[in-house]
Amino acid sequence: MRQRKDFELFGTVVSPGKSTIINAPLPSLYSHATTQTPIYVRHAIKQGPVLLITGALHGDEINSIEIVRRMLNSKKSKLTSGTLIAIPIVNIYGFVTLSRYLPDGRDLNRSFPGSASGSLAARLAYFLGNEILPKADYVIDLHTGKEHRTNFPQIRATIDCQKTLKFAKSFDAPIIINSNIRDGSLRGLAQEQNIPSLVYEGGEGLRFDEVAIRYGVRGILNAMSKLKLTTTSSCNKVESIILRNTSWIRAPVSGMLYLKKRLGEKIVKGAVIGHIFDPFTSKNENLTSSLNGIIIGKNNLPLVTQGDALLNVAIPGKRSSASIDEIEDQLYDEYNS
Ligand SMILES: [Zn+2]
Repeated sequence: MRQRKDFELFGTVVSPGKSTIINAPLPSLYSHATTQTPIYVRHAIKQGPVLLITGALHGDEINSIEIVRRMLNSKKSKLTSGTLIAIPIVNIYGFVTLSRYLPDGRDLNRSFPGSASGSLAARLAYFLGNEILPKADYVIDLHTGKEHRTNFPQIRATIDCQKTLKFAKSFDAPIIINSNIRDGSLRGLAQEQNIPSLVYEGGEGLRFDEVAIRYGVRGILNAMSKLKLTTTSSCNKVESIILRNTSWIRAPVSGMLYLKKRLGEKIVKGAVIGHIFDPFTSKNENLTSSLNGIIIGKNNLPLVTQGDALLNVAIPGKRSSASIDEIEDQLYDEYNS
């Protein structure tokens, strides 16, 4: 068998069969404190694909950090071929300030491809997109809903690309959402470079969500198994439901929200799904569904202003393989039992 080449990142050489942690240097804080973020590299003896896993591009999305931590500590992640690059916390600045954003208010996941001489966000995007991403054959980028918003565990991907769809299915998330590329996102840059990439969404910012964490860990291990990075068998409970269309139900008035529906539950057009109360009078407005679909994202903050996004709803189209009732049967217990 042909000897596999060493893997090199930031001047650190990893020989076949070896693992290392590279502390990647980043711009220091104004307090003089140096900043670095650990990058885990496992380089197997046998040839195979390079899988890049990124957590906390949004610094407050701590489920992603826990997913990477558990995955790396799992015996099932022992590499038998290929290479794993795992970065638990990309946006270390947002992580220490409990913020989705960088200190200058910029969103790292809207800053790709970035530049070496631009803003801090542009430099961090350039560091990831230029130094690390080109070494990868596949990418899994881990996210959660923003603060006060929970996402049902889901893969977002460009499913019209067959290679990406196959990769998305290998994760075995409960649902796969066909999702347009956001300008400036890591997934967009990966797609430009023809690197199949998935975004895994689950849970809420600044909160641990055990269901979303378990799905994330299991999904990465499943994907690693299907890519033959490991020899453990994947744990496929049910086939992912593919949904193409999503839409938001927004607050018709301002007030205090009482939602009657939960993640994974179906809603029917015209049905009352909640109430919005005026805090000082007896006035209360019914929140009525304008859609037929399944709830895949939910606002958790009861204080709402007219126009606020309240529920993200997946709408099964004609091409959906399952009815709304069948999807609800499959999803509701997953999250709420
Ligand atoms: Zn995010």
